[in-house]
Amino acid sequence: MKAAAFDYVKPRSLDQVLALLQEHGDDARLLAGGQTLMATLNMRLSEPRLVIDLNGIDALRGISVQGNVLRIGALATHTEIEQSPLVARHAPLLQAAAPHIAHRAIRNSGTWGGSIAYADPAAEWPTCLLALGGQVVVQGPRGERRIAADDFFLGLYTTALAPDEVLVASELPLAGPDHWFAFHELARRHGDYAIVGMAATARRDGQRLQQLRIVLLGVDAIPLRARQTEAVLEGRTPDAALLQQAVQTLRGEIEPLPDLTNTPETKRHLAGVLLQRLLGSAGAA
Ligand code: FAD
Repeated sequence: MKAAAFDYVKPRSLDQVLALLQEHGDDARLLAGGQTLMATLNMRLSEPRLVIDLNGIDALRGISVQGNVLRIGALATHTEIEQSPLVARHAPLLQAAAPHIAHRAIRNSGTWGGSIAYADPAAEWPTCLLALGGQVVVQGPRGERRIAADDFFLGLYTTALAPDEVLVASELPLAGPDHWFAFHELARRHGDYAIVGMAATARRDGQRLQQLRIVLLGVDAIPLRARQTEAVLEGRTPDAALLQQAVQTLRGEIEPLPDLTNTPETKRHLAGVLLQRLLGSAGAA
């Protein structure tokens, strides 16, 4: 199938993009890396009259340290993030997760902003953004606003981004010397969307993990924080007994959605396996 006919425009400024969104409303779609949008157009799941290409706007590019945050521009590609020395130093969780996103060709085109805005519950970046406790920077006709990752993902493919707003960047806290992180996922083949995945961050105090954030992908309609499991582990040394308790808590607190090949029970089991691996990398027995 091929896409329905549409007009195409490549503005040079964010103000132009915002004006076009105001003018065309739901008849317009933003184009970033196109790795999701082009498929939905070609399958006619979406038939906009106007496609607004963001790739002419340099302000949306780049990865930089600004004050006490790492700022990732919406147009930073998955590969740029994967290969960035700044990301390796200040948000190494992203570097660990990046190789799990599809294959190189897709990572070369797909963007941070496209992935966060699309909010696929099986995608790696929304899960990492939430695990890192970052925020999303958006620009709209009412100006700029920041939305905490905890408040950004509202439902299946649904975010706090208003239809007339553009996601311009994300800001992540800089990893300190006591930063601990882990990323694990299970997929049928490397590069496939994960069946279940898990990202975690904490402040490490000796053997203990504090301010723990554990986020699951592929389990719910949104990237899901395992808050009860976080509470079980918070500030304690993850020994074998605590690990068992945490796995039980996790399996009890989630209600996984099935996918085409995996039942909720399979996903519940796999989530526990991932937690064991994750805590294993934190030194648990
Ligand atoms: P686009 O396709 O250009 O846009 C996606 C959506 O976001 C559109 O609705 C668009 O209007 C909107 N949008 C884009 N940028 C902005 C912005 N700045 N502000 C507001 N709205 C915006 N992803 C994974 O995470 N893990 C995977 O394993 C994975 N596997 C894939 C396998 C295949 C075969 C393919 C084709 C894709 C896969 N993807 C995967 C998706 C890929 O990572 C996409 O690149 C990503 O989801 C969307 O980014 P994009 O830049 O391509 O966005």
